[in-house]
Amino acid sequence: MAGTKTLTMIKPDAVRNGHIGAILNDISAAGFRISAMKLTQLSKADAEAFYAVHSERPFFGELVEFMTSGPIVAAILEKDNAVEDFRTLIGSTNPAEAAEGTIRAKYATSIGENAVHGSDSDENAQIEGDFHFAGREQF
Ligand code: GDP
Repeated sequence: MAGTKTLTMIKPDAVRNGHIGAILNDISAAGFRISAMKLTQLSKADAEAFYAVHSERPFFGELVEFMTSGPIVAAILEKDNAVEDFRTLIGSTNPAEAAEGTIRAKYATSIGENAVHGSDSDENAQIEGDFHFAGREQF
């Protein structure tokens, strides 16, 4: 059975460009419940740990630099089939390929600076939620 949780980050580009409110509105309108949320900034060590799976990719340094470049909003979102439905809501990694109306199509500027993160599996949703939030911050 598909899980009910996913982890999102509104990335530094979208925060800088003033899109927090619009993105949270799209998330709520799509039927997700916010069960944890904070404005925070990743350290270099945080970003390297969060994206460790990409450490051998050529864009890893750029990704870490971008993700630490300003505040982000981290949130745990709940809904049936959360991981897959959220990835549909945000669209393809490259905003140029993201379906019309998706969050990345509307608010992202490039494949690197692509406005939002969404977990890619139920297992990673749990790991990433616990990365950002203590148990007492999850409701
Ligand atoms: P996602 O699951 O759609 O976020 O995509 P991936 O797991 O493949 O990549 C993780 C993140 O790395 C993406 O959301 C982008 O921010 C970044 N990224 C992926 N591909 C590239 C790239 O070719 N160049 C740069 N600079 N960043 C990339």
